[in-house]
Amino acid sequence: MSFKIFCQGATSITSFVDFLWQKLTPAVSDTIWGNMSLKITGDIQATCPAFNGNRANLEKHILISLAEEENFDSYWQYIHNPESFFRTYIRNKTTKYFSVNRGKNIKTFLKTSLEDIKSAILSAIHESTAVAKNKSSTASEWLDLFCDYLGNKLIFPRRDLISIEHQEIKDMEFLKEAMSAALDPAMKKVEEIFSSRNIDEMIPEIEKTLSEHLCGCWKQCPFCKAICTNTIPKHDGDHSVPFHRPQAINGWHQYKSEHFVIDCCTSLVASDSSFILRDDQIFLYKKYRQAGEDFATWSITPDSSTQPYWKWFVSHFRSKLEENYEKKFTNLGKIPDEWAKITKQDVLNDLNKQ
Ligand SMILES: [Zn+2]
Ligand SMILES: [Zn+2]
Repeated sequence: MSFKIFCQGATSITSFVDFLWQKLTPAVSDTIWGNMSLKITGDIQATCPAFNGNRANLEKHILISLAEEENFDSYWQYIHNPESFFRTYIRNKTTKYFSVNRGKNIKTFLKTSLEDIKSAILSAIHESTAVAKNKSSTASEWLDLFCDYLGNKLIFPRRDLISIEHQEIKDMEFLKEAMSAALDPAMKKVEEIFSSRNIDEMIPEIEKTLSEHLCGCWKQCPFCKAICTNTIPKHDGDHSVPFHRPQAINGWHQYKSEHFVIDCCTSLVASDSSFILRDDQIFLYKKYRQAGEDFATWSITPDSSTQPYWKWFVSHFRSKLEENYEKKFTNLGKIPDEWAKITKQDVLNDLNKQ
């Protein structure tokens, strides 16, 4: 009689454990996926200087790589579609990280994530059993304790266990042993699930996280297309940027002529010059906000200092700019001789100083 009861108890505990691991295994796999994604994101931020600061720091690295690459089409994308350009840059860097680190860091992260979760589950089994066996608990109570001990170390749907929570558990020690014995095979299974998943599927998630970290205001100066450096999207107050660019970069030209405007917004707002918008309305640069819309929401302070970067760009890509905007760097828009003397190394040194 007593042997029969023991057998029933053991069988029911075994099926209880089987069912529990059936539910635990995919949860473990998903948790490890999430942990790996966090660890890899952290490693990318720590090892890639473009990602370990704010958006202005990222932009600096983008300007450096644009100059190194010297590809006008890439510049064109950056100038006219900065948000998508930044995202592509982040995606490319992330993809590169994966191709370089697939066999090294990523493998180590998987190993430590598996070990972490294994020890979390093992200690949850031991702790919950130790508490439960002193008060002859039910399965439901043991499951509550087990989930409590796991805490946020494992994203686990407790509600999926309703069908087994009314089971009576007489032998807590046997439950502990059965749960512990199933741990290694279950972790092997998780490893199998993992090796069948394409780790590259993590790239879009990481790109999204990094993009959110490095987001900010995407408004561009209506004159020169420089991007507002405020780190808060939809921030209060005016848009602003420390360095504006020669307006030719955005195709600005002298009224009814083919001559580019090579001056910077910051020097023009200090001058007596004026600008004319498409509907032939004329505005003084000094009172640029009167032009309304985007002009009214930018703070452009008079300043004569400019970065060598955009002077080098204009001089270096003069024919491409002329071709794309169908305007000329002649007359008032003639590129000063000093600009042609600026070398790529000069602009890289200048950026690296910042
Ligand atoms: Zn500007
Ligand atoms: Zn802004």
